[in-house]
Amino acid sequence: MKAMFYEAFEKAPEIRNLPDPEPSFGGVVVKVGASGLCRSDWHGWMGHDPDIRLPHVPGHELAGKVVATGKGVMRFKIGDRVTVPFVSGCGHCSECHSGNQQVCPNQFQPGFTHWGSFAEYVAIDYADTNLVHLPEEIDDATAASLGCRFATSFRAVADQARTGPGDWVAVHGCGGVGLSAIMIATALGANAIGIDLSEDKLAFARQCGAVATINASTVADVVEAVREITKGGAHVSIDALGHPVTCFNSIKNLRRRGRHVQVGLMLGEHATPSIPMAQVIGHELEIYGSHGMQAWRYDAMLAMLKAGRMKPQQLIAKRITLEEAVPGLMTLDKSETPGISVITTF
Ligand SMILES: [Zn+2]
Ligand SMILES: [Zn+2]
Repeated sequence: MKAMFYEAFEKAPEIRNLPDPEPSFGGVVVKVGASGLCRSDWHGWMGHDPDIRLPHVPGHELAGKVVATGKGVMRFKIGDRVTVPFVSGCGHCSECHSGNQQVCPNQFQPGFTHWGSFAEYVAIDYADTNLVHLPEEIDDATAASLGCRFATSFRAVADQARTGPGDWVAVHGCGGVGLSAIMIATALGANAIGIDLSEDKLAFARQCGAVATINASTVADVVEAVREITKGGAHVSIDALGHPVTCFNSIKNLRRRGRHVQVGLMLGEHATPSIPMAQVIGHELEIYGSHGMQAWRYDAMLAMLKAGRMKPQQLIAKRITLEEAVPGLMTLDKSETPGISVITTF
């Protein structure tokens, strides 16, 4: 199979011919129809993710067709169109049994713990626990865009933050995660505020439903700006970027008993940010992480999609080839283009 491959961190990946994968006992092989590019692929390639062992094939936001199944697979067959959450549970531990596959200690992550989907084929373990059947009306590129950022945002906004109608939701960072969060909060009846340094991204945020936007490079104080718009602070705030400044602001701009959700990854030198803990205590703030979403929660998300309440395909800015994904991956940290890139030609 053709795949993007690297033997060293920070060195340009190559497109290589590699042996086709075989399914494990409980796993399948998926012919990749689409695979999204994500900032976590860039973190992985930079060497920030301890799960990655070299050499490596990245890629974790995928959709495609099952072409081979292991003997233990009961719920899926060759020809099924599927996607998979980027954190896949083992199905056997206490976290998985409690329905929290997204924090399974034995987790399978395509593109991190195992080779991923920047390739013609990808092997997925624990298929019965993690694969999601795709309805016909959702195409591969749209489905691929759900697996990581959109699903993580869905869990962050709907499940972790318990966002409801009328809530003010501040979203710090209007990349793929942030725009998804704005779209989901809006679909849930909340009022989203998009915050970013780029006017282009803020314009996109308004298209996704943001009722207000704040350009952090032109206001004196982001926290004060949020407090003013919301008359006292946000009910829910999301750090969708993953930076000490956005994390701090996201907690600081909450109203009493507000909920902060950290979705943007905090890796390397940013792993231990300072946060306004006195306010967390005095105002009884709630601080959550959000990392992936269980396969069984896709039903709720897909139902909202099918009803037309959210349109994640709006977030797809570019459909690219596997070859074009090499420079795309290497420059993801500097990307100023709003929206996401999806590989649709392998
Ligand atoms: Zn991702
Ligand atoms: Zn497990």
